[in-house]
Amino acid sequence: MNIELASQLHCVRCGGEVETTCGDCGPEAPLELRPPLEPGSGPALLELFSQRRLSRRGPDRSGVWRYRELIAPGLPEDLIVTRMEGNTGLYEPRHLNAFAGLSSQGKLYLKHEGENPTGSFKDRGMCVGISLAIAEGAKVVACASTGNTSSSLASYAALAGIPGVVFVPAGKISSGKLAQTVAYGARVLEVEGSFDLAMRLVEEASAHFGLGLLNSINPWRVEGQKSICLELLDDLGWEVPDWIVLPSGNLGNISALGKALREAHTLGLIDRLPRVACVQAAGASPFARYVESRAQGETGEFMIEPDPETVATAIRIGAPRSVEKAIRELEHLQGTALSVSDAEILAAKAAVDACGVGCEPASAASIAGLKRLVAAGVIPPDATVAAILTGHLLKDPDTTVGYHDGTLPGIPRPSGLGRQTVEANLDSIGAALSDLL
Ligand SMILES: *Cc1c(COP(=O)(O)O)cnc(C)c1O
Ligand SMILES: [Zn+2]
Repeated sequence: MNIELASQLHCVRCGGEVETTCGDCGPEAPLELRPPLEPGSGPALLELFSQRRLSRRGPDRSGVWRYRELIAPGLPEDLIVTRMEGNTGLYEPRHLNAFAGLSSQGKLYLKHEGENPTGSFKDRGMCVGISLAIAEGAKVVACASTGNTSSSLASYAALAGIPGVVFVPAGKISSGKLAQTVAYGARVLEVEGSFDLAMRLVEEASAHFGLGLLNSINPWRVEGQKSICLELLDDLGWEVPDWIVLPSGNLGNISALGKALREAHTLGLIDRLPRVACVQAAGASPFARYVESRAQGETGEFMIEPDPETVATAIRIGAPRSVEKAIRELEHLQGTALSVSDAEILAAKAAVDACGVGCEPASAASIAGLKRLVAAGVIPPDATVAAILTGHLLKDPDTTVGYHDGTLPGIPRPSGLGRQTVEANLDSIGAALSDLL
């Protein structure tokens, strides 16, 4: 197929325009797409985006494709694959402020990316990645995944009618994610080893067998993921929050967020930049360690974590692939990175769940990280903060029930009611409810 796309591929290291890899910087150099951005076109774009909110047409109703001038300009609309992804809720549950340490003047918004069609933000990049892979003639698409990318790929590949193959670490993905991936009919290859090994394998296999690779090193995935930020800003009337906090594993999401903010700023859609915080799990925190050591004036190399471990399986990644892009975005946004323990993640998850909003464990790292940054005086208590909840509560039912039952190793049982067995009579029920009546 011969389609004219307006975005050009560039090398992130030297900035040069490239075809497939950078001849000067080598095949390892990360690449990014640059859509044409005309400063001054902001007002017309804002008008277009808000008109599309009223439209009934599929691509306009998608919270990704609504912003298509910034994502895949020039892609013919009949090549768009969509499940009306995005359009996720923005919540402001006031009683989370106290948990996070924010004052009543502070504002905490939760952008719930778990409300995407397959229950995680991965759908935003996947709909774009799949559309372009098919436009470019892929016959089979593939990814490595800790679970959510595979759920998303499986769904979109099925919808588009193209075979999907996913490489997952055996025994390390949650039951909700495995169920989705199998049900949508992707070929699941379980690899004995970590996500990082599965990632290496899928890259080799894609090059060798000509599979369309749909991990976030695929620059189109990043373009689609920018829409989390665009939609968040749109939800806020293009008013910029002071901070955006998000969980980080492979670092694709922070790369997309930073890119979206830079582009929105260039276009004049926003008049200032927020600060950002990447939150990692303590057992899988190579990026947080690197950023912290640089903040202390050390100049060491980035060190991978050979044996990542955390209850938050979506961020159980020791060798993040988008580290160069993430470093650049953090510098530009005066961002920070930190790590939190599994106990802190689960306590934060319980607080988000108890608001009636709920999320998967990795997502709650953002709230656990926010709590730390407020306590440390980095984020002022009266700040306006947007936290990205990356995945849905139902993604990992075993961890949630295990937490409330007190059966997770090393994690204290929460106070509160949880579940209990009752006898089949009103006396027993009355006793169980005595404190409520
Ligand atoms: C993928 C994912 C992350 C991590 O995003 P990266 O782009 O890998 O940093 C966090 N939370 C959930 C639920 C995810 O699915
Ligand atoms: Zn280069």
